[in-house]
Amino acid sequence: MKISKRSEILGTETAFEVLAEVNKLRREGKDVISFCIGQPDFDTPRHIKDAAITAINAGKTGYTDSAGVMSVRESVAKYLSQTRKIEVKPEHVVIANGAKQFIGYAVACTTDHGAGDEVIYPNPGYPIYESQIIAKGAVPVPLPLSEGKGFSFDIGELERRITKNTRMLIINTPHNPTGGIIGEDDLAAVAALAKKHDFWVYADEIYNRIAYEREFASIASIDGMYKRTIISDGASKTYAMTGWRIGFAANPTLAPHMARWVTNNESCANHMTQYALKHALESPQDESHKMVASYRERRDIIVGLLNGIDGVKCQTPGGAFYVFPNVTEAVSKLGMKDSEELRRHLLAHGVAVLSDIHFGKRNPGDESQHIRLSYVASKEHIVDGLGRMKRAIETSGNDGKAPAANAQAQA
Ligand code: PMP
Repeated sequence: MKISKRSEILGTETAFEVLAEVNKLRREGKDVISFCIGQPDFDTPRHIKDAAITAINAGKTGYTDSAGVMSVRESVAKYLSQTRKIEVKPEHVVIANGAKQFIGYAVACTTDHGAGDEVIYPNPGYPIYESQIIAKGAVPVPLPLSEGKGFSFDIGELERRITKNTRMLIINTPHNPTGGIIGEDDLAAVAALAKKHDFWVYADEIYNRIAYEREFASIASIDGMYKRTIISDGASKTYAMTGWRIGFAANPTLAPHMARWVTNNESCANHMTQYALKHALESPQDESHKMVASYRERRDIIVGLLNGIDGVKCQTPGGAFYVFPNVTEAVSKLGMKDSEELRRHLLAHGVAVLSDIHFGKRNPGDESQHIRLSYVASKEHIVDGLGRMKRAIETSGNDGKAPAANAQAQA
C-alpha cells in the first residue's frame, strides 16, 4: 500500500531524536546532563492549576466554539491590545492547542498548494516553519540570520529574497534557537517591505515575555501592520505550561479562516485549559516575572562559562532561554567535521546539546558552526555540564576521542 510522498518528506523536530538518544543513555545508567529541551523547568503556578480544576468541576468539559470560548478570546484580546498597543478585538482571536498549530494554519490561509507561493522564514529557525511550508505545498525560502547582528537578519538579504510570489514572511523574536531579538529599526524596515510588496507577516512571539534587556517590540505595533500580521503567542513558555497545549493567534481578516482550520484539525482547544489560560492572563504576573529573573541569572552564568572554554564564543542573547555559541574554532581544533560531530563528542562526555543542523540546513557559504543549549537546567547542572563541556573540548586529543579519565567518568 502506498505511503504518500507528503508523509515521507514531512520534516520534524530532530531535537526529539536527540532526546530519545539521551533517554536511552540514561536508561542504560549513563549520567547525562541535558541542555536539549526548550521547556521551562518550573512547574505551572498553583493558582493556574487550581483554575483548571475549578473549570473541570464547573463542567467546562465539552466542545467549545472552534475559535475558542468568547470570554477567553476577550481576555486574550485585552492582553494583546495592552502589550502590543493596538486594538485587538475578541473576534480577531483564535485559540488552539498550542501556538505551534498556527504555523501550519497561517501557511494554509495565505498560500495555495503547488501554486508556487513562497514563504520566507528564518534560518536557523524553529524547524516546523520549513516542514509546514513544504507540507502545505508552498515554497520555502530560507532567510539567513547574521551572527554579527545579534542573530537578527540583514534587511538587504530579506529584500533579495522577495519576489512577486512572496506571500508571507515568518519572523520570530525573541528567537529560537539563538535567543536573538529583532531591533525596532529592523522591524520598521520589514514593515515597509511588507507594505510595499504586499505580503503577510507571521509574528511568532511565543517568547515575548522572556526579553531581558529591553521591552519587547512587536511588528504588529507599527502603524498599519496589524492588518497584515498574524500575531502568535501562548502560555507554554510564559507560564511553564508546555504540556497543557494552549496557544492563540490574532488577525482581523484571517481569524475566521484559522478557526476553520481548527474545526478541521482539533475541533477546538481543550476546554478547561482555555479557562486556565484566561486565569493566567488576568492574574498578577509575579510568578512569571520570577521565572524570567531566574532565566536571566542562568543566562549570565552559562554565557560566562561558555566564553571560558577555548574555541567557544558566545554572545549574550536578549531573550528566550537559549544560547547559540559559535564553536567553529573548537570543531577545528578537535579535528572534527562539524558541530554535529562535536555534539556527539559532548554526549559521549555526558552533556547533551543540539547542533545548528537541527534548526535548518546550513546557509550556502556559511561555514560557521554552532550548538544550541537551553539553559532551563538548574544552576548546579549548568556548572557541572559546562565543566564537562570544557574538559571535553580542551583536553581531548585531536582525534576527537574522549581522554581516558573522562571515558571513565561516563561509565
Ligand atoms: N514557536 C517557537 C519558536 C517555539 O520554540 C515553540 C515551542 N518550542 C512554539 C512556537 C510552539 O509552542 P507551543 O507549545 O505553544 O505549541
